Amino acid sequence: MDNRAVIDKIIKTSDASVEEIVSILKGSEDYLFEMAYRVRQEYCGDAVHLRAIIEFSNYCRCDCLYCGLQRLNRNIQRYRMSPDEIVSNAKEAYQAGYRTVILQSGEDSYYTRDIISGIIRDIKKLGDIAITLGVGEREYDDYAQWRRDGADRYLIKHETADSEIYNRLHPHSSFERRIECLRWLKELGYQTGSGFMIGLPGQTLETIAKDILLLKELEVEMAGIGPFIPHPDTQLRDESTGSSLLTLKAVAITRLLLKRSHLPTTTALEVSTKTNAFCAGANVIMRKVEPHSYRRLYDIYPRPKALEKTIAQERKEVEDFIKSFGLEVSDSRGDYI
Ligand code: SAM
Repeated sequence: MDNRAVIDKIIKTSDASVEEIVSILKGSEDYLFEMAYRVRQEYCGDAVHLRAIIEFSNYCRCDCLYCGLQRLNRNIQRYRMSPDEIVSNAKEAYQAGYRTVILQSGEDSYYTRDIISGIIRDIKKLGDIAITLGVGEREYDDYAQWRRDGADRYLIKHETADSEIYNRLHPHSSFERRIECLRWLKELGYQTGSGFMIGLPGQTLETIAKDILLLKELEVEMAGIGPFIPHPDTQLRDESTGSSLLTLKAVAITRLLLKRSHLPTTTALEVSTKTNAFCAGANVIMRKVEPHSYRRLYDIYPRPKALEKTIAQERKEVEDFIKSFGLEVSDSRGDYI
C-alpha cells in the first residue's frame, strides 16, 4: 500500500500499526497535512481555542535531564506566585476573554493538596472558566480532591513511550508511575492530556510511532507534541533540537487517529522554528499570562526575549494570528465533545 492509501485507511478505521506510521513519517507531508487539516475541520470545526497558561512556580523536585527547571540547576532564580497572585492573574485572563486557564508549575510540594484546592475554588468563582492543571505526578487523593473542587482537565505528558529512554531521562520517577497517573486522571473524569517530545536522544521513528499509538491507547482528550530544545544548563545541552517537520507530521498523524482531541500548536514549535501546527491539524494555542518578571524565569528551554505587552494586547495579537490562517477564534471553554 502506498502512503496515500495508508492515510485513507487510518482515517476510515482510526487504527494504525507501528510500520504504517513509520512509513508515513518517512514520506512526503503534502497529502498527510491536507487530510489532517480536513479531519480537524470535519470533527472540530474551524474554531481555534485559546488557553491562558499561568506558570506559577519554577521550583521542581525532579531531575528531568532535558529540563531547565530541574532540581540540580543552580543557575536559575526560583520563584513562587502566592495563591492570591495566581487567582488575580486568572481574573485578568478571564477579563481579557480567556475561558480556560492552565495552572502549570514544576513539581513543587510547597503547594499542598489544600492550597491547590483553595486556588481552584477561588478561580471557579470568577465565572464560567475551565481549569486545566499541570503540576506533575501527585497522589491519587490529590487528583481526586481537585476534581471534586472543580478542576476540569489535567496535562501530564508521557514524554516518550520508550520506557528505557523514559527511565534514563527521569531518574526520580519511572515510566510506570507516569502512566499510572494518566490512568488515574482518566478514571477520575478529567479531560486528560498527554504528549511527547520529538528529538530526544535515543528516539527512533519507531519510538515516535509508539508515542502516537500510546496517545490512542489512552484515548487522551488533549495531546501536546513539541520538539525537544536543548537547554545549556542541563545534561542534554549538546544534543540537537528536534525536527519541526517531524513534529508536524506526528501532530498530523495524531489528528488522523484522535479525531476530536484538542491538539495545541506547542510553544516549543513556535519557539524553535517560528512555525505552527495549524496546517497539520492543530486547533489550540496557549499564551503565557503570568507577570513578565516570572515568564523569563520559567526557563524550561531557551527562548527569545519577548516584548512586554498586556494580557489583552497579547490576546488581540493571537486572535489576529489565528484569523490570518482563515480560522476562527472560539469563544467557548473548548471542552472535549
Ligand atoms: N511538572 C509538570 C509535569 O511534569 O508535567 C509540568 C511542567 S514541565 C516543565 C512541562 C513540559 O515541558 C514537559 O511535559 C516537557 O514536555 C516540556 N519540556 C521540558 N523541557 C523541555 C525541553 N528542553 N524541550 C522541550 N520541551 C521541554
